[in-house]
Amino acid sequence: MQEISSKRIQNVVDHFASLPSVGRKTALRLALHLLKKSGQQIDDFAEALKAMAAEVKFCKNCHNISDHAICSICNNAGRNAQQICVVENIQDVMAMEATQQFSGVYHVLGGIISPMDGIGPDELNVATLLQRVQEESTQEIIFALNSSLEGETTQFFLHRKLKDSVHKITTLARGISFGDQLEYTDEITLGRSILNRQLFENQSN
Ligand SMILES: [Zn+2]
Repeated sequence: MQEISSKRIQNVVDHFASLPSVGRKTALRLALHLLKKSGQQIDDFAEALKAMAAEVKFCKNCHNISDHAICSICNNAGRNAQQICVVENIQDVMAMEATQQFSGVYHVLGGIISPMDGIGPDELNVATLLQRVQEESTQEIIFALNSSLEGETTQFFLHRKLKDSVHKITTLARGISFGDQLEYTDEITLGRSILNRQLFENQSN
């Protein structure tokens, strides 16, 4: 990459390049694009970032992003709070919501068990899930985790922890092939996998 003749632009490029999936060429293109914007547009941009960092909260109940202490899904009386769909991250909540096939609530783990990356159950929102199940007399837990080795490991771990407290534990039907990520699965396929979900026990036999 060529030397940039302005330290200030270099600084902005470094920030963009620190983001996931942004290479240095893209970072430079974004910086030069912003250079053409008006002062007001730049202020609005910077303000939006600051407000996001300062004000966005994580729902106390399910760990989804929210502008309030409890998110709009948990707060919606029309949703079935006895049915909890367990997902890895916030993008997965969005992907499930986009299918319009699920009227329960969620629990965002904030990751997946991955010994290779040093991520164990203690690094994830597992304790709050167990607590919810105890307190809310949950009828069904649905595992909507990516079908990877880590996803399977996480499901087996959670199943062991939950099986004595929850009557029904299900998992997405395998319309989704191994290794596919939930957030990149199309809405129809994902919607079908939630409607055709299977008992977890059946699958592990
Ligand atoms: Zn919530």
